[in-house]
Amino acid sequence: MNMKLITVLAMALTLSFLNAAQAADQPNFILILSDDLGYGDIGPFGSTLNRTPSLDRMAKEGMRLTSFYANPVCTPSRAQFMTGCYAKRVSMPNVIFPSCPTGLSTNEQTVAKLLQAQGYATMCIGKWHLGDQREFLPTRHGFDHYFGLPYSNDMGGGEEDPQKDKRPPLPLLRDETVIEAPAVQDTLTTRYTDEAVKFITEHQSKPFFLYLPHTAVHVPLYPGSNFRGQSNNGRYGDWVEELDWSAGKILDAVRALGLATNTLVLFTSDNGPWLTQGKNGGLAGPLRGGKGSTWEGGVREPTIAWWPGRIPAGADCGALAANIDILPTFVKLAGGQVPADRLIDGKDISPLLLGKSKESPHEALFYFRSETLEAVRSGPWKLGLPPQLGAAAQQKRALTATNAPRLYNLETDIGETKDVAAEHPDIVKRLEGYLAKMDSDLGGKQKGPGVRPAGRVENPKPLRKE
Ligand code: MG
Repeated sequence: MNMKLITVLAMALTLSFLNAAQAADQPNFILILSDDLGYGDIGPFGSTLNRTPSLDRMAKEGMRLTSFYANPVCTPSRAQFMTGCYAKRVSMPNVIFPSCPTGLSTNEQTVAKLLQAQGYATMCIGKWHLGDQREFLPTRHGFDHYFGLPYSNDMGGGEEDPQKDKRPPLPLLRDETVIEAPAVQDTLTTRYTDEAVKFITEHQSKPFFLYLPHTAVHVPLYPGSNFRGQSNNGRYGDWVEELDWSAGKILDAVRALGLATNTLVLFTSDNGPWLTQGKNGGLAGPLRGGKGSTWEGGVREPTIAWWPGRIPAGADCGALAANIDILPTFVKLAGGQVPADRLIDGKDISPLLLGKSKESPHEALFYFRSETLEAVRSGPWKLGLPPQLGAAAQQKRALTATNAPRLYNLETDIGETKDVAAEHPDIVKRLEGYLAKMDSDLGGKQKGPGVRPAGRVENPKPLRKE
């Protein structure tokens, strides 16, 4: 064997050892996202109405994140999880509907793409809602595989009278193919859970990223047969309890495979409870408002992080964090780099999760409703720009006669009941400064220079079974 060949072989051997060492350090990630679950809907966040023993245990063994923010509605919230950016920055500020020509641009770097580049196996199971055209599906955004509904479960078209409703029957996809339409909904949570456990089992020996955005508990409510009529809170409670069962099955699988000390599981929601649905919607607990608004109830999510041995057990973290932080945090823990060729709004919150810091990396966090910048939070202070309207009828009643910004101290007044702007002109001024800075970047009501384009197709087609 000549020296050159020996050198090449030695280098290859060293590299493979390095890869193996790196792989051993790379944690698995499981991101469980519920849909429209309220801040007050699970035991660890004070619910006495819904029984959530699995999430209770998860919180006992992990950390509650009590100031974790999303966006008031589905699509923009998911854009934030995936890109680490405010939804407006990636031109996904509104809910998109079936056969929409726009979707999340494939020029964006998603958390899945970045983890894939670090050698992770990736799968998305559940509701995607970032574009239903082939170009925008999870398989084009860094996921090896996909199983689920491409949008909300209330967006299926009528089968009996297709003329009356041009939308296709609710499609269930496997990768890029419609395998069932209309999707049978009351077995969805079970099927998602089975798929999740199968994926975890099959990829136990290499790092993986499982993104599980549930269809539950978005209306119409479809709890499985084992849960129907079992809760003390109607169909909504039944489905919350099935969601809890699902989280329990997944954590059990992780434990049984011996992966617990190497797997970070995050449970959260995409937006607040849909209050106008009455008993078919959730509750925001102590928070004001719900889905569709930038009051705390619309955007602050019941969030639990779990990683035995790494995340301190039974811990509470009230530092400001958000779903835009998922990308930088996971990518950092995986040994990767956050893209430097574009602005990423999220920050690495691993020091918070690992109990190494109590300080939020965010000097200020912004609240958008659609394209409009409506509020900012810094530390305990939140400054809101009236009217902060929302989908919920009661938001309209909350209108004040004045157009002056409202200031709340969320540490002493989590329910946003007492406007203290007049008492703290210096704080109002400081927070207005953050808003002005963001205005010059993404724009207040208009589009600012920091906005990047969405993806677009010329001839969108309805997703139908072939
Ligand atoms: Mg939602």
